[in-house]
Amino acid sequence: MTILNTTFNTPYNTAPFSKIKNEDFLSAFKVAIEKAKAEIDAIVNNTELPTFENTIEALDYSGEELDRISSLFFNLNSAETNDEIQKIAQEVSPLLSEFSNDITLNEALFKRVKAVYNSKDDLKLTTEQATLLDKKYKSFSRNGANLQEDKKQKLRAIDKELSQLKLKFGEHVLAETNKFEMHLTNESDVLGLPEGAKEAAKQLAESKGKDGWLITLDYPSYIPFMTYADNRELREKLSKAFGSKGFHNDDLDNQDIVLKIVNLRFERAQLLGYKTHAHFVLEERMAQTPEKVNDFLNELLEKAKPAAEKEFEELETFAKELDGIEQLQKWDSAYYSEKLKQKLFDLDDEKLKPYFKLENVIDGAFTVAEKLFGLRFEEINTIDKYHDDVLTYKVVDAENNLVSIFYADFFPRAGKRNGAWMTSYKPQMIKNGKNERPHVSIVCNFTKPTKSKPSLLTFNEVTTLFHEFGHALHGMLANTTYPSLSGTSVYWDFVELPSQILENWCYEEETLKLFATHYETGEVIPMELVEKIKASATFHEGMQTLRQLSFGLLDMSWHGLNPTAISDVKKHEIEAFGKTQLYPDVEENCMSTAFAHIFQGGYSSGYYSYKWAEVLDADAFEYFKEEGIFNKTVADKFKAYILSQGGTDSPMTLYKKFRGQEPKPEALLKRAGLIK
Ligand SMILES: [Zn+2]
Repeated sequence: MTILNTTFNTPYNTAPFSKIKNEDFLSAFKVAIEKAKAEIDAIVNNTELPTFENTIEALDYSGEELDRISSLFFNLNSAETNDEIQKIAQEVSPLLSEFSNDITLNEALFKRVKAVYNSKDDLKLTTEQATLLDKKYKSFSRNGANLQEDKKQKLRAIDKELSQLKLKFGEHVLAETNKFEMHLTNESDVLGLPEGAKEAAKQLAESKGKDGWLITLDYPSYIPFMTYADNRELREKLSKAFGSKGFHNDDLDNQDIVLKIVNLRFERAQLLGYKTHAHFVLEERMAQTPEKVNDFLNELLEKAKPAAEKEFEELETFAKELDGIEQLQKWDSAYYSEKLKQKLFDLDDEKLKPYFKLENVIDGAFTVAEKLFGLRFEEINTIDKYHDDVLTYKVVDAENNLVSIFYADFFPRAGKRNGAWMTSYKPQMIKNGKNERPHVSIVCNFTKPTKSKPSLLTFNEVTTLFHEFGHALHGMLANTTYPSLSGTSVYWDFVELPSQILENWCYEEETLKLFATHYETGEVIPMELVEKIKASATFHEGMQTLRQLSFGLLDMSWHGLNPTAISDVKKHEIEAFGKTQLYPDVEENCMSTAFAHIFQGGYSSGYYSYKWAEVLDADAFEYFKEEGIFNKTVADKFKAYILSQGGTDSPMTLYKKFRGQEPKPEALLKRAGLIK
């Protein structure tokens, strides 16, 4: 048996990274899966009648060792991976999905879960217990556990076909992306591009044995070209290539696949007793119904549209004055927006960075957490780390009780994936009367210090740090009984509230005074710079909003209605975009055939959640602003009803307890400068 299968004999039961060997993982996983299986068998074979405790609760506490090993392993695979770990991941992943399928398809287990579920009204459950019961029951029923055998088989067949179609959709988009390249040999064709982008295009050309510059549809190549290249015809060419992926009526075409996917999803939903795929998905979201989502999107649309139209007109005038452009096209949008932004704000990262030394920003985040929630962060060096760069903290409350262990890992290196995220090594739960405190981690890829300069963050990195720290607070302050309802285990359209709300503090003078001081002179960031940051953050917010709404409405048009009569993808799309388009339609382009979020990833009927989360965080922060951004009463309520509650109750109920009312879009519209 490996160390992973034992109780860690370490301070605070932290992961013993230095003692874990990669080769331990596979056998540790196998042992833990067998243990978890035995726990499930014990529930199924229990001779007593099913009760909440012996079935639902037992199920939720089962597999603890497997969960612990999984989070350890997959966190390492994201933050400090190597070939060996990746190879193990390949071997382990099928074992894990087989194990979880075995649970979902376990009929004897479902029989017991259903028996408890059917007697729920007589059980006098707490709200948290009722939520857990509902969640467990639905994890079976939403996968067809209640269906007759023939329909079960139909469901499996649909699922299989859907996963193949999603795969194919993605392969086509990828192949289309890789197929296209724009080879440029005249210096005049790359005029306007920043040096870095030009250099990258040159290197790409060289790597393929070509002279000049190579532009592709990959974002790092595509975005700078669309934003900066002066040559309008080339921007048009690139834009049309980007916009027509999967739409060439050839072997990489995705139109039929889109139609098949939406029809299969509809069929699947109907089989399970739901009106549409969106009804099925939204049952487990804060928004709950397609009607609510559509109302939400349309209300925002109505309010954002006048501002968007005004911005569009200004941009048109600007482009006309600058270059005599008669009709603004899609391939002009990023280019002239950037030019106008430069003219209005003259703000660049280099001016701001000296005020955001990493250590100061970390202290700033900790101070905010202390002022709001009474948390104190003490660096500790007695626990194991998986890399020297990792900082470790003990988090305590005002009475010195342990709240959490906190890991922070800030710099890029080989073996760490891109981006920034929050995760945990140990969940919070109350088991056998003991409140087990969580081990939470944030991982980022920030600018590294050099010999002469400390790590100085861009403002975007500052908000990213606060964002992930907000997720971390959600995890650290968790205070629930059951692990599957703890911390960030909440509905998808609710999980970004704690993270996004925290970003708001970065724009407030009161907060910036606490930490945004020049790393050499100690001078506090000048307020005129802060005002510029704020103003530029909402630049062209009307048009941006309209764009996001158009994607959300397109998503709902595919998934919130019966799709059986749709036969023309492009025609359907033009109708769905009817109210949101400012630019002329481009005939040879189609969005849906490359809309990977909803046809390949997990965002179907969920694209609205980006805006939904913004409405929530703006509305919640508005409450802080009304009472003072460090107001103790509001902070206490936020902790009591949001941060500590995880998924123990419906998010709308929790939100109303905090705010006193349902979220309203006005605060977001005001923050974005769309209404006065
Ligand atoms: Zn987030």
